[in-house]
Amino acid sequence: ENLSDIRMRKPSSQDEWSDLSLHLNRLLDKIDHYVTNQKQFVEDVSHELRTPVAIVEGHLKLLNRWGKDDPEVLDESISASLQEIQRMKELVQEMLDLSRADHVDVDYKDEITEIYSTTRQVFENFKMIHPTFNFFLDDDQQDNLPLYVRMYRNHYEQVLIILLDNAVKYSLNRLEIHISISQGMNTVEIAVQDFGEGMSEEDKERVFGRFYRVDKARSREKGGNGLGLSIAKELINGYRGDIRVESSLGNGSIFYIELPILADQMQIEKSKAIAE
Ligand code: ADP
Repeated sequence: ENLSDIRMRKPSSQDEWSDLSLHLNRLLDKIDHYVTNQKQFVEDVSHELRTPVAIVEGHLKLLNRWGKDDPEVLDESISASLQEIQRMKELVQEMLDLSRADHVDVDYKDEITEIYSTTRQVFENFKMIHPTFNFFLDDDQQDNLPLYVRMYRNHYEQVLIILLDNAVKYSLNRLEIHISISQGMNTVEIAVQDFGEGMSEEDKERVFGRFYRVDKARSREKGGNGLGLSIAKELINGYRGDIRVESSLGNGSIFYIELPILADQMQIEKSKAIAE
């Protein structure tokens, strides 16, 4: 029953009055729910945009300080900033979709991403925006050989950013974050390790669920909505990968992403041709 129906009612008995009051109360609940959702939406968008905005800001500051005389800095900062702006555009679209439906149909693009260079770039961006942290990248790349996975680059970066944002957020005294890349037979494993608060055995499964947060009060204070890891899992699974966590309370956490490797150059050329 909507507002105009309720307006049409002219209660004449005690029963009709209490009936009307019931309807009005339901309507108020709906309005309340709507307002809370809108507030949540605005908070979520602001939270998601914080990291890309900080990256663009960092690059612009670099440009301002050194870039004017150094064409290499100029080139790199401009292309990194443009990439972040693209990410922001996609994030905004995603958040809009999310606000309209409770589920987003992810567009799993058939694209190929080079793991070492992409990871390195996200790593450099995080070093820049969190100068109080020590970031370490330990990769097993040999002879500069590339390593390809079939995953849209922005999606891979998004997952890495979710894990790194969390590592920063849930660190305590030891401000140290390690990223490692190790290549297996058919898969590559990317690990993000922090030395922060960690989580209990039961929470290790739950944290990948939508809206789940271990400590609601504290998580709210740190910003966030309990969606990050569920999005990361959905994305990784969508590209036939796996995501899991090893952690114990007080000792920090290691999140592992495992993705199938594209076997050889032939396959890569073929999928490039299909994509075009
Ligand atoms: P958010 O961080 O926005 O709350 P996430 O889905 O990214 O949502 O994470 C869900 C919950 O998992 C967090 O609220 C936090 O309790 C826990 N968590 C995630 N990453 C870590 C981490 N690196 N260390 C400890 N707890 C974590």
